[in-house]
Amino acid sequence: MTKIILKKGRDESLRRFHPWVFSGAVAQIVGQPSEGDVVGVFAHDGSFLAYGHYQIGSIAVRVLSFSGEDVLGPDFWVNMIGRALKVRMATGLANGLETNCFRLVHGEGDGLPGLIIDWYDGVCVLQAHSVGMFRSKGAICEALKSVFGERLKAVYDKSSGTAPFKAGLDLVDGYLYKAEGFSDDEQVVLENGNKFFVNWTEGQKTGFFLDQRENRALVGRYSAGRNVLNLFCYTGGFSVYALRGGALRVDSVDSSRKAVDMVGRNMDLNGYGSELHEDICADAIDFLRGVPEDKYDLMIVDPPAFAKHRGALSNALRAYQRLNAAAISKVAPGGLVFTFSCSQVVDKEAFALAVFSAAAQTGRSVRILDRLNQPADHSVNIYHPEGEYLKGLLLYVE
Ligand code: SAH
Repeated sequence: MTKIILKKGRDESLRRFHPWVFSGAVAQIVGQPSEGDVVGVFAHDGSFLAYGHYQIGSIAVRVLSFSGEDVLGPDFWVNMIGRALKVRMATGLANGLETNCFRLVHGEGDGLPGLIIDWYDGVCVLQAHSVGMFRSKGAICEALKSVFGERLKAVYDKSSGTAPFKAGLDLVDGYLYKAEGFSDDEQVVLENGNKFFVNWTEGQKTGFFLDQRENRALVGRYSAGRNVLNLFCYTGGFSVYALRGGALRVDSVDSSRKAVDMVGRNMDLNGYGSELHEDICADAIDFLRGVPEDKYDLMIVDPPAFAKHRGALSNALRAYQRLNAAAISKVAPGGLVFTFSCSQVVDKEAFALAVFSAAAQTGRSVRILDRLNQPADHSVNIYHPEGEYLKGLLLYVE
């Protein structure tokens, strides 16, 4: 196995269990690793630090184990996926009756950097964000079979958009496993008793945004008697909860035609007739411009990540400010705005500042009623605070 030897004094972050080795910390590579190989990481004095996947780029190794256990054998994956499942059992997600979809593996948060696995009632949708995880997908699939047995209906690999492209990698999405008789690319899942179609082949990301489960429930709690506007609605998660919570009416806006069509299907699925909702394919900002003041007294603003990397930060903050100013200025007096950012590089302080500036721009009186987060199944490793990405504010606007 290739040995990565760190520069003197550059072992500190690993000794504090941070799971990344930056290339600038590497003194010497003993061997000729290919990207994705498992390598051993050693301090300058030769002491063992970790095993991890080798990468080409600013992060040289993403750690799989600090303990020296065998990370190459099948037991490793069974053990790690078993541990991740145990956490989802502890939170009641993997064993409840009202919800049968959740994030099973959340990268660094579950000690598996670069790996996402979402569970949709027996269907696992896998996204590898590193070459190491991409090359391990066969072993991961075998481990899923062994952990879930007959409960596993299928494993779908959806890494083509996420695995860093390297010549020679076969980046085509497809099934790694299908149980006998299973043939659909779509199924109905339950989230807090609400039903949703999830289509992992056609949908965005793994098919559904599981990270908004708790925030959707909160929207439901505030929706009674309100006229709701759900901006960046995707397949209508917040919209269904709003109607369940007693909203008078919900309008859902997304720029993706496919997503908007799914909103209608999800409304039907939950028994909400067309008199209760309208699904609109439009750019959210353009749509907001035409919204009469006073029409909506609850708005949800959940845009895609405006900053995918640090370099895009200042533009992203300006975009969050513009969008939130538009929403705050249009919500009816006494109205609520649920506003979110899922950009990892925009931390909660920076986001709050952007929303603060937006509020100030409108001149309206705004209170913060709640601070919103990602749910427990999008777990954050305490040694890797970078894993925190979803943040939101619930605003009351006079
Ligand atoms: N709130 C959703 C998730 C939103 S993801 C949920 O609970 O499931 C972000 C969504 O924004 C995507 O569906 C994407 O199609 C949409 N989108 C991206 N740019 C947009 C724009 N300019 N106007 C409207 N929607 C947009």
